[in-house]
Amino acid sequence: MSSGKLFGTNGIRGTVNKELTADMVAKVGSAIGTFFKNKNLLVGHDARTSNKIFSNAIIAGLNSTGCDASFAGMASTPTLQFAVKNHGFDGGVIVTASHNPPEYNGIKVVWNDGIEISHEQEKIENIYFQEKIQLANWNKLGTTQNLPNINEEYIGEIKKHVNPAKIALKHYHVVVDAANSVGNLTAPRLLRDLGCKVTSINANIDGTFPGRPPEPRPENLREIASTVKALDADLGVAFDGDADRSIFIGDGGEVYWGDKTFAVIMKNFLMENTNAKVVTPVSSSTLIKDVADAHGGELIWTKVGSVTVSQTMKKLDAQLGGEENGGVFYGPHQAVRDGCMTLALILSIMATTGRKLSDLIAEQPQYFIEKGKVACPEDKKEELLEKLTDEVKGLNVSKIDGIKIWFDDKSAILLRPSGTEPIFRLYAEAKNQKRSLQLVEEYSSKAEKILNALQSNRK
Ligand code: MG
Repeated sequence: MSSGKLFGTNGIRGTVNKELTADMVAKVGSAIGTFFKNKNLLVGHDARTSNKIFSNAIIAGLNSTGCDASFAGMASTPTLQFAVKNHGFDGGVIVTASHNPPEYNGIKVVWNDGIEISHEQEKIENIYFQEKIQLANWNKLGTTQNLPNINEEYIGEIKKHVNPAKIALKHYHVVVDAANSVGNLTAPRLLRDLGCKVTSINANIDGTFPGRPPEPRPENLREIASTVKALDADLGVAFDGDADRSIFIGDGGEVYWGDKTFAVIMKNFLMENTNAKVVTPVSSSTLIKDVADAHGGELIWTKVGSVTVSQTMKKLDAQLGGEENGGVFYGPHQAVRDGCMTLALILSIMATTGRKLSDLIAEQPQYFIEKGKVACPEDKKEELLEKLTDEVKGLNVSKIDGIKIWFDDKSAILLRPSGTEPIFRLYAEAKNQKRSLQLVEEYSSKAEKILNALQSNRK
């Protein structure tokens, strides 16, 4: 791990016993404990093979600085976030690498409302790198106890936000794919409580992720898609590794990207909450704006990243947020991504309207999405962005994160430097596929031309 920096856009992430080791994580635990100062924190983890090692290390670090810890064991990220808030902890540490490959693990730090810390990460990094850890005296060490039953409490809370009896009347058959991870601890149980028939695939907990990779991308969801179709089920739901994101599969086996299901939830939310604020990153489809405009919502665009969406919701007192990757933030429950809450909302809308998810999605405005990438060295990213911005002057451009250009024919393109790789990502969308492909090609070659010029200038 590079010096001076521990946290990335999603907490601390790294490969086990290479970038993340037990002794290093214990030191991170002590740095977090020094930052919180003698407080009481919840610790829990997802289903990865290294979780016990790192949870124990975090707890040892916290206790050594005088912080008390409660250990909740294995649970989804939203379950742990809810437990932090519900039990009045001062904060929490979640050992998870979310959707990363199996050899990874990571650490997220949350406040007493369950929302991840953001700029405070620097303070923890300073304590860690500048050897400012404050260890407690032998007679002031923190203690640890277990906190059982948080999955039950979480499921109980989600049910309060929907009408379980109404959903149960429909006897929906739902297929669940939680990627052999923590979504299996809550989703099947929630569904049975809502009167659904449940078929689970990849249901055994296994940190090697034998069934599919933990990222719920369409290419990883072929098995659940064919299962929904083969069993003639009403719905499929696939979670990422820590079950904060959910991707839905229609009764015909179609995998819907997060924008589409979020638009369904948003439409219903706006029908019940007129003029409500809705928060979404600039990477979301124009579909989200279309639906907000049609139903009187006030849309707030943010930088890409779930923590930014949560923090913006908190700041503006907005009650709904959503991301194109399947993250839905339902404020009345908690202002963080929550896969099971999203599932309950979708079932509630299906039950209330009496319509299939496939029909609810088919009636939305349709967009064709194309993605691309351009190789760009780290030290050229800023310059490339500046030159691109110069080139598109006069167009309808947003500079919230990278640059997004909206065109009159309802097409749009977002060009954004990746936070983790030496590339620029391009996301285009249009009313037909030809136009979105053309946008990716046009702007890839613009970017490449600028980069070539930048590189030849240096020679
Ligand atoms: Mg996740």
